[in-house]
This record gives sequence, structure tokens and C-alpha cells, in this order.
Amino acid sequence: MQGGLAEQHLIPRPPPFPPGTQLSEHYSVEGLVRLSEGRMFYLANDDRPDRPRKFCWECGSDETPRAAASCVRCGADLSPRRFLISVRWETSGYEPFAAFFDKQLDHPGLVSPVDLFFQDGVLCSVTPWGGEGLMLDEGSPLGMAQVLELAQRATGMLAFLQSNGVRLATLTRANFLVRRDGQFLLFDPEVAQVYEGPVPEAHRSIEVAHLGAILRRYTPATAVEVHDFFLSAEEGTFASPFEFGRALEELLATEPEEPPVLTGAMSDVGLCRVLNEDNWGWVCLQPGIFLYVVADGMGGHESGEVASEMAVSTICHVARERLREARDPSDETLENVLDEAFQAANNTIKDHSIRMGNDMGTTLVAALVSQDRLALVANVGDSRAYLLRHNVLHQVTRDHSLVARMVEQNRLTPEEARNHPHSNILLRTVGTERNVDIDIFRVELEPGDQLLLNSDGLWGEVEDEDLEAVLNHYSDPRLVCRELVRAAHHGGGRDNITVLLVGTPKG
Ligand code: CA
Repeated sequence: MQGGLAEQHLIPRPPPFPPGTQLSEHYSVEGLVRLSEGRMFYLANDDRPDRPRKFCWECGSDETPRAAASCVRCGADLSPRRFLISVRWETSGYEPFAAFFDKQLDHPGLVSPVDLFFQDGVLCSVTPWGGEGLMLDEGSPLGMAQVLELAQRATGMLAFLQSNGVRLATLTRANFLVRRDGQFLLFDPEVAQVYEGPVPEAHRSIEVAHLGAILRRYTPATAVEVHDFFLSAEEGTFASPFEFGRALEELLATEPEEPPVLTGAMSDVGLCRVLNEDNWGWVCLQPGIFLYVVADGMGGHESGEVASEMAVSTICHVARERLREARDPSDETLENVLDEAFQAANNTIKDHSIRMGNDMGTTLVAALVSQDRLALVANVGDSRAYLLRHNVLHQVTRDHSLVARMVEQNRLTPEEARNHPHSNILLRTVGTERNVDIDIFRVELEPGDQLLLNSDGLWGEVEDEDLEAVLNHYSDPRLVCRELVRAAHHGGGRDNITVLLVGTPKG
């Protein structure tokens, strides 16, 4: 989607530091490793050919000549060290983060920055790097044991921060590192305010809601009870990490089953945008019936990401309410529920847009999968559903875009459409008009079938034959998602990328 004028209110991402850039006193950039909303992550080392002497991280001495291997004062090993440097450029976050840094908090679940400095107007925070990955690169879902362990650790972490007066502005998966043993560590938090004493009672709930949102997305839709528990946290049920933690313990006592992993999902800001306006969701509507959704919002800052989030949560909520009481729903009932849920999402966004006096809308593609037998696929806009059957990829949905219509009328080839200057003009979107027509496609599922829902940030950057190759190459849906996002980056990453994969068991 086009960002629109509103996106100009966002501070653009500054140009990256090239490899070899010397940062502050000690660091040399190896490379930019990842972009996320509001952050750039670099790997760096302290091997500085421009310095005649080495710095010792143990005793602070800078008297050791470059050629020596250990510190002349304390004897510590001075082999080059590696660091993860996080760069933020939203100036409002600078002061609270510096206050957090000054506290030098120590907790096993927290990776505290060891250094903080400005360079070229951006704030750089430095943490030692021991091969950890970014949670940003972890596709959903995680194994249940890992989800619950993350829930416990993060809850303890939030309580620790609050008792030390640190209130977070938000919490996203960009704030976690993953150790090689699979453990998650909080790092580089988005700090709102630092208090002298503990965070006041009234401000202790928001982090739990953000944590609930992260955990829900990493929980398989098939683990219904745990999924719903995190959803309730996201909706603000718990006043503090302490309350959440107590309820979590009761849940842990029930030992949820490990569901088979047939689905995967991932959303990524891409390489050019500052904001991710895509969204996705999955939910169990009743035993054996699941709904999967991808939305690509438009309208710019405080519009696009709101519209796509609203669309996903409304469609999941409404479909679930409608199917809650239905016994053995017929295919016709399922189709009606899907249509109703789309209309509800449309009206919710339209109403909100009128209240706010701005234009917002979203694409929406959804798959309602019943008993691994039937998929009802519905779409509005140019987010797509594909079916992989017997290793061959088929496009299920038709884009409601100007160029897609021109292709249908033989006025453009599919290749010309891909690179057309007006390829982003949509003929139908959710939330822009009072009524919206949706297309519904019936797919009679066969064992081993896979459905791929995605925003145009994927299919616009990766040719169908390459999508097919990735889907056929990997069997773990989480790996497929990660590789598809990588392929979109490789193609240019000009837009937000969202992928959601639904598999049916092999016969
Ligand atoms: Ca898009």
C-alpha cells in the first residue's frame, strides 16, 4: 500500500552506517544485521586498527599495545569482542532510555547495555554479543514449552523492571534476543519513564497487555486454552505482571498438550518502510474449525496499522461469536459467517475512520478451514491466498487491483503488471465504503495441501516459481515463513511482508 502523506509525520530511518564505520571510542561496524520499526541493529567489534592501544573491558585500562594478547594491567584476555549495537532515532525515547541505562540493572533475564552514546544524531546502545538471534527472525508458533517459559521469564522481568521504577512505552518481539539454547532475553527496551521508586500501581498493566499480544501470536491456534488466556491478557484483564503471573501458574498446572505444528506465520517491516502496517491472526472458532487472516493496512501512520489490526481482531472475534453456539455448521453457514465477519470488520473500520476524520482501509484475505476437509478463502484487495498441492503452486484469490483487471482484459501481461507504476491502486478495500463485496473461493482440501496467505510485500518481490521452490524445499512451516521473508528482502523488501501458512496433515 502507498504510505500516504501521514507517514511523513514519522521520522525517517537515517542512512545506515557502512561496514568499517568507527563508532564512539571502541567499536567498528561489521554490518547492519536487521531493521525493525524504530531500530537498526548492527554487529560490531572492538578490533580497531586506528588505535595504537587496546581497551580492557575488565579493568578499563587502555595501555595495552595492539600486538599484545592480554591486558598489561589485569592480565585479561584482549581478543576482539563482538557487540550488538542497537540504533534508535526517535528522539523522544532518548532521555528515558538514558535514565534506564544509568540504573545499570542486573537480572539474569535482562541484557543490560554496557555502553550508550550518540553518533550522527542517533542513540547507540551496546550489548555484548554471544551469538544470540533476534526474536524478530522467529516465525510463529513456538513450541508450547518455549511459549510458557517465555511467559514466565518475561513476567518476572517486567515485575523486576517495575519494582526498579522502569515503565516501558511498549513491548514488542524486537525487544527479545534468543539464546542458542532457545531462552529468551529482554534487551534494548522501549522505556517510557524512569521513576525514583517503583512504578505506580496505576501504570502496571500496559506491559502485560503487550506481552499478551506477543505470546498469543507465538501460541498455536490449536492450543485454544493458552491462546485465549494470552488474548485476555492482551485485552487488559490483568492489572500487573504479578496478577498475570499468578493466573499463569494455574494455567501451567493443567499441562497443555503439544499440538502438531502445521501452521506458521511471520510479519516483517521490510527494508524500506519505517512502520509495519500489516497484521495477521489465527483463532479456533470451534473444535476442528480455524480462521486464519492476513491484512495489509493503508492510510499512513496511525491509520494503516490501526485498520489492519482492527480488521484482524474484528473478523476473528465476530466469526468466533457467530460459531460458538452452532452445532455441526453447514458449509453454507460457514460461508455466511465469513461474509458477516468481513462486513463487521468493514463497518468497524469505516466507523472509526469517520470518528477520526481520516482515510483508512485495509486489504483482507482469510481462510476458514473446517476439519481439514474444506477451506473457504475470502479476500478483498490484493493480499493473496495460494494453494500448494502436489508440489505445485496455484493462486486461489484474484486481486482487486487496477493492474489485475488490466491483465484480465489482456491489456497487460502479468510481468508488466508487477512493475506497473499504478500497481498499488486497489479497486476494493475493507473500511473505505459502507458495503464491501467479498469473493469467496471453496477449496476441497486434500491431505498434504498447504495454503499460503500473504500481503503484496511478499508476492510483489518474489516470483511465484520462487515461492513454490521455498514451499517445496522446507517442511517446517516456521522455516518456510522465515525463508519467504528473506526471499522478499532479497527481492528488495520495499514493502511490509506478511506470510501465514496453513498445512493439512499428510494422509
Ligand atoms: Ca503492502
